[in-house]
Amino acid sequence: MKFATKVIHAGVEPDPSTGAIMTPIFQTSTYVQDGPGNHQGYEYARTQNPTRTALQENLAALENGTDAVCFGSGLAAMDAIIKLFQSGDSVLASNDLYGGSFRLLDKVFKQFGIQNKLIPMQDIQLIADNIQENTKMIWVETPTNPLLNIVDIEAVCQLAKQKGILVCVDNTFASPYLQNPLDLGADLVLHSATKYLGGHSDVVHGAVITKNKSLAERLYFIQNASGAVPGPMDCFLVLRGIKTLHIRVQRACENAKAIAEFLKTQPRVSRVLYPGFSDHPGHEIAKKQMRGFGGMVSFDLVGGNEDEARKVLSKTKLFACAESLGGVESLIGHPASMTHASLPKEERQKSGLTDSLMRLSVGIEDVDDLIEDLKQALLE
Ligand SMILES: *Cc1c(COP(=O)(O)O)cnc(C)c1O
Repeated sequence: MKFATKVIHAGVEPDPSTGAIMTPIFQTSTYVQDGPGNHQGYEYARTQNPTRTALQENLAALENGTDAVCFGSGLAAMDAIIKLFQSGDSVLASNDLYGGSFRLLDKVFKQFGIQNKLIPMQDIQLIADNIQENTKMIWVETPTNPLLNIVDIEAVCQLAKQKGILVCVDNTFASPYLQNPLDLGADLVLHSATKYLGGHSDVVHGAVITKNKSLAERLYFIQNASGAVPGPMDCFLVLRGIKTLHIRVQRACENAKAIAEFLKTQPRVSRVLYPGFSDHPGHEIAKKQMRGFGGMVSFDLVGGNEDEARKVLSKTKLFACAESLGGVESLIGHPASMTHASLPKEERQKSGLTDSLMRLSVGIEDVDDLIEDLKQALLE
């Protein structure tokens, strides 16, 4: 089955009891059994729910995996993954990790003895040099937020295989429409379905996908044992969002390209970060591992001062100033004061995250209107 068919049909069957074409929202906590242990595969809704099962099967198909395990948020999914490890183990992750992922590793799991080390992941040799005896997993995010750095997934996986280490790729920014890490050798894929998969900024949800049966069994166990499960309504919303994933992401990619090119011509804009540009340091790798360059664009102002960035942010009308990304509507954010405020300024500056950097999540509105909006916001 091709991708555009999978988003609509994988895991989804008309409801056998009524013929309803859309997967019902099974809003129930328990299921009646004919006698103790004599049931139809469903006992208690933390353990299994048919709406969740349909979504899990759909997500497994989209990432070319065998199993998907869903959670109440992207971070709950990550929490389950890190629970595969034990005290004394260490996770090697990229230094421009999503802020919440860093917080979970550093402020929660470290307390239980699971260590982490953060390094830039564009240099494979540097990754090799930082693997220690207790390194159990390499955590990759690509493209990264908000600098849109690209990590070579295949190269990281080859290195990890030699060393017997697992690789998890946070595929939230690319979505399965543009990138499939399992095909490149990754063991696990994480999604914050809150973003492109849900796609309408109306649900918080997360998932892990794998084709390794023993990892899947372990994750189902943790899903049930720790209990951070999503509700059936949220599973329904994600399933519904996914049906248009390919069309939404395709349009977001087209709009982002036009906007990146427009920004490049603006005298007030000092740099535009967009992996689709041939002078982007990760361009060739992005071309190799992605089917498009995504809907995210970051840009900076000449002179680089925060007040001027704030003025631009306050002047956009279609681009709403908000956290998150991947919805149908366009958003603009100021990473230094919003998503990345918890990073010390020195660390931010070192990685190129200046105080005037702005991040766009380009939506699927008419691109002429979006460009017009940025044009007027950039007027001094
Ligand atoms: C939003 C996000 C997360 C966390 O997901 P939630 O659904 O908000 O818990 C993880 N990784 C990336 C890249 C994200 O953008």
